[in-house]
Amino acid sequence: MPKILKGVKGLTNDMKMPEIIEKGILRAKYDLSVYKDGTIRFDATNAPLTHFKPVEIGVSVGKLVQLGYCCDVYGNPLTSPDQICELKIQDVVIPIKCAEYFVRVANFLDELLVKVYGLQPYYNVKSVEDLVGHLVVGLAPHTSVGILGRIIGFTSLNVCYAHPVWHSAKRRDCDGDEDALMLALDTFLNFSRKYLPAQIGGIMDAPLLLISVVNPREVQRQAHDFDVAAAYPLEFYEKTFERVEAKHVSPLIDLIEYRLGTEAQFEGFRFTVPVSNINMGVEESAYKRFKTMVEKLNGQLALAEKIEAVDARKVALKVLTRHFIRDIAGNLRAFSTQGFRCKSCNKRFRRIPLRGKCLQCGGELTLTVYRGGIEKYLEAAEHIIKKYGLPKYYAQRVALVKDEINSLFESRKPKQISLTDFA
Ligand SMILES: [Zn+2]
Repeated sequence: MPKILKGVKGLTNDMKMPEIIEKGILRAKYDLSVYKDGTIRFDATNAPLTHFKPVEIGVSVGKLVQLGYCCDVYGNPLTSPDQICELKIQDVVIPIKCAEYFVRVANFLDELLVKVYGLQPYYNVKSVEDLVGHLVVGLAPHTSVGILGRIIGFTSLNVCYAHPVWHSAKRRDCDGDEDALMLALDTFLNFSRKYLPAQIGGIMDAPLLLISVVNPREVQRQAHDFDVAAAYPLEFYEKTFERVEAKHVSPLIDLIEYRLGTEAQFEGFRFTVPVSNINMGVEESAYKRFKTMVEKLNGQLALAEKIEAVDARKVALKVLTRHFIRDIAGNLRAFSTQGFRCKSCNKRFRRIPLRGKCLQCGGELTLTVYRGGIEKYLEAAEHIIKKYGLPKYYAQRVALVKDEINSLFESRKPKQISLTDFA
């Protein structure tokens, strides 16, 4: 038996339906955590990949041939781990950390099949290599359609390498977002719509539908713009001297868009710049490495200032209006409409009881939204307004919010005035 078995305080689904406790016990045994819909997930940053060498993904040539990689990108039989192969559009290369996690998930599923369902084990996985050839489901946040993929190898980077068409099928444009990966049998065996919260948004992030065959025609437009030429024609370079718009020269380049509806939409893609090893890139997204929002912002702005094609002031303005001001205003509203919580028994009150203490146990009450949460971005917002000389309107908006915060908090602690103060 596991030492600790964690559960939830209450069920949020319509029928108040729990899953069987055996699943929880087995998950605890393998130190796995469960998502609200009953599935086990691993989150990884998306990275596009169209070609690889067997040596880069840690899988033998023999195994890859079994999986359908009979030839390299030039049509020669695959015999050496250094030949370049074209990635099939639903094959994925997962982070080694994810693979190690999936080994535990597979062992959990096998024990579940045997002990609860009275069936034969399915995965029989002992090491990460045994996962090659198994299916996964990829799912982007805020969507409800999972995309079937197949594990063909591993990367030491903390990214999920997959075809741009595959990432795009998840409704992503491959720009470094983070999506979830699940072992396919876990999704089939343990997901239930009945577990999903009854409130609005409850069906988001849940694999309600599964796309088993990706049709490049049906993915996001950005993936159609992907160029798959082996070389650009001379005419393209000549046109660059005339500074023509990209859309006028794109017909000169072999794009996925021009292949849609034909067999060539699935394969026969080339590349222009070979790399020595796909694992030599950035190991982890800076967005993940930086912990606070202010660090992430400073990183983004520092990069914007270095890139000539990017207007750092515009970036700052976008962050300010799309994130900071909204966040600050939202938190301010949350503060003024907040509830109260008992420090000892955790009971929540929508309004502060007249007695001023917990009605259940007499304990001290405390806020549920704190001043720090509202002020979190205020300083950063002021800083970027000043630094980039953003329009006064924003400086005034932030100043107004500051006034409002001060009036809210200062009035909460009235000063005791003594009669002699008027003397
Ligand atoms: Zn209490």
